[in-house]
Amino acid sequence: MNDLLDAAYEAAAAVLRAAPRVVVAAHTDPDGDALGSLVGAVLGLRAAGIDTVGVRVAAELPRELRWLDPDQLATTAPAGDGWVLLAVDCGSEARIAAPAGVREGAALVVGVDHHHDNTCFADIDVVDPGAACAAMMVRHLLDRLGVALTPAIATPLYVGLVTDTGRFQYSNTDARAFAAAAELVDAGARPQEIFRRLYESVAAAKLVLLGRALARTEVRLGGRLAVTWLTLADVTESGADASATDGVIEQLRAIDGVEVAAFVRETGNGGGHKVSLRSAGGRVDVSAIARAGGGGGHARAAGFTSDRSRDDLLAFIEAEALSRGACTD
Ligand code: AMP
Ligand code: MN
Ligand code: MN
Repeated sequence: MNDLLDAAYEAAAAVLRAAPRVVVAAHTDPDGDALGSLVGAVLGLRAAGIDTVGVRVAAELPRELRWLDPDQLATTAPAGDGWVLLAVDCGSEARIAAPAGVREGAALVVGVDHHHDNTCFADIDVVDPGAACAAMMVRHLLDRLGVALTPAIATPLYVGLVTDTGRFQYSNTDARAFAAAAELVDAGARPQEIFRRLYESVAAAKLVLLGRALARTEVRLGGRLAVTWLTLADVTESGADASATDGVIEQLRAIDGVEVAAFVRETGNGGGHKVSLRSAGGRVDVSAIARAGGGGGHARAAGFTSDRSRDDLLAFIEAEALSRGACTD
């Protein structure tokens, strides 16, 4: 760890230790790392004797993550003000999923995040693009606060680690990730049970929806770009919830020769769409495409939301993928 990052952790720990209250939030449309880091931070800070409240917005959570007991998270701001807001896994301020009043009532904002395009929006930014997941960063922070891991704290942190590393397969899976896994398992996280809950508790409707998306797969740019899409009607007809579309994009990225995979899903908010992007092989930085579309993310996994039509978005993605090197041989 370099000195600057070390100093940032130390400053964050000092502020949290002295805070009259800490409110923890993660990002919109929370994934395993967002929710795992959030719940892990709440339980860990409480173990350090810090008055801590976790918050989320009232939207539906992915079915596979509900067992993390999100009911313990508030969907309204606490009374009063003057708390420290701890934002985990958020690359920008706009990504923070916090009920009205939470941001306004914060005396200070601490960001703990691993996105390389983090905008440093907080008063204290602890940003480590080399960290495989935000959950590992929360673990470091808790370590500095003298918190001993318990099974209840280790479990959500392990969820963040296993989901953001693609079950220890993505390029961010390094020795530190395995060392963190060993520590969390040693502290009581149960890999097989967590695997069952995350990946083998799917609703049949999710597979039906996945089938529909896969059947529409289209390969462009001489095999380098794979795209597919789903409408709101597809989701409604399948009987699945919107989060059931998680995982579609990973299938597209697996196609031999594909460098960029894109999945466009209609969200229904005024005809809006959510675009998920993945890079295979790492030649194309898909976060640059996402930023051009108004979003952001990691070099190999990024996304944005847009009011543009599906055809418009597919043409935009194709042009961006082409100009960013998805077809340069
Ligand atoms: P997803 O395709 O939803 O799994 O998102 C992949 C990654 O892209 C996330 O982990 C975020 O880092 C990033 N991302 C997705 N949507 C957005 C957005 N609207 N704005 C900024 N970053 C996003
Ligand atoms: Mn995330
Ligand atoms: Mn993350």
